[in-house]
Amino acid sequence: MAKDFYEILGVSRSASPDEIKRAYRTLAHQHHPDKAGGDEAKFKEINGAYQVLSNPDKRKQYDQFGQAFSGGAGGPGAGGFSWDDFARAQGGAGPFGGGFSQQGAEFDMNDLGDIFGDLFGFGRRTARGGRASRRGQDIQAEMTVEFREAAFGVDKIIDLYKQTVCPHCGGNGAEPGTKVETCPTCGGSGQVARVQRTILGSFQTAVPCPDCKGEGKRASKKCSVCRGEGRKKETEKLKVKIPAGISDGQVIRLSGKGEAGARGGAVGDLFLTIRVHKDPDFRREADDILSEANISFPQAALGAKIPVLTIDGEVILKIPAGTQSGKVFRLDSKGVPHLHSRGRGDHLVTVNVVTPEHLSHAQRELLERFTELE
Ligand SMILES: [Zn+2]
Ligand SMILES: [Zn+2]
Repeated sequence: MAKDFYEILGVSRSASPDEIKRAYRTLAHQHHPDKAGGDEAKFKEINGAYQVLSNPDKRKQYDQFGQAFSGGAGGPGAGGFSWDDFARAQGGAGPFGGGFSQQGAEFDMNDLGDIFGDLFGFGRRTARGGRASRRGQDIQAEMTVEFREAAFGVDKIIDLYKQTVCPHCGGNGAEPGTKVETCPTCGGSGQVARVQRTILGSFQTAVPCPDCKGEGKRASKKCSVCRGEGRKKETEKLKVKIPAGISDGQVIRLSGKGEAGARGGAVGDLFLTIRVHKDPDFRREADDILSEANISFPQAALGAKIPVLTIDGEVILKIPAGTQSGKVFRLDSKGVPHLHSRGRGDHLVTVNVVTPEHLSHAQRELLERFTELE
């Protein structure tokens, strides 16, 4: 006696389509015959149950007629019912055929791609028509800029040796004057069906067409320059706009500046990691700039105006009388422009009071006098 489809999937009779789908995925993963610990009979049983319960019409009929109707996951028979008959009666292409033939839609290719893409060597992307698989590679590159260039932004030219669109054929891979034709093997779908006879009927899977590599089209005469690839390796000069405020290690993504795809496929992206050179005068902490300034003891004691170098050039910093060594002065908005917003960081100047190592005779006398007065 064939088992109940709901029992097979371990769901209640009132289970939602989502619950059924989840249960199916879990079990199909678990019992797939290509996997360790898989069980082919069990897998077929699960598939059979899912084919019925995932289809609202079939499910309704199954609920109504139950086992007598099903003939089942256990095998054909049970009153001479066969799945092929049933599918024909439903106007489909066989219990497993509907998914990619667009008829009947019994089989959801997305489910199949999700679960078995890795096993059968094709996933959702190729199942949809192969174009995605021809996308050019992304490129990772690095560029070093000077400290001030990072702060204020700069336009740079870089040379990239990469796959570029073939200038001879414009990327379609066909010799100019000849045509790109619909692949006769797959009729342009990019897929051919592989039919497997099982106890449940014909089990049909789609595989990429071997003649056109899943693309549905092919050049009647291949381009003489790129040999039909539609692209060739070349050094391309690329102008890159480095935004103001970028910092060391940040990555700029340049869409469509990666490698050209094969035969007119989409172009990949360029990921440019920015390295910022160290600067002898400045350090950077987020968008603030840090520097140090040396002052003499009398400047610290009496106050002074000293020149300080910022990334904008020299400014005058007023040191008040009685300044201690290590005191930090903030120059508002003299730091690095914010990358993602208006405004700038600050420039922080740490003041060092320098003790003289050599004193002239007169200086010594004055300092001695100073000590006496204290
Ligand atoms: Zn070409
Ligand atoms: Zn083909």
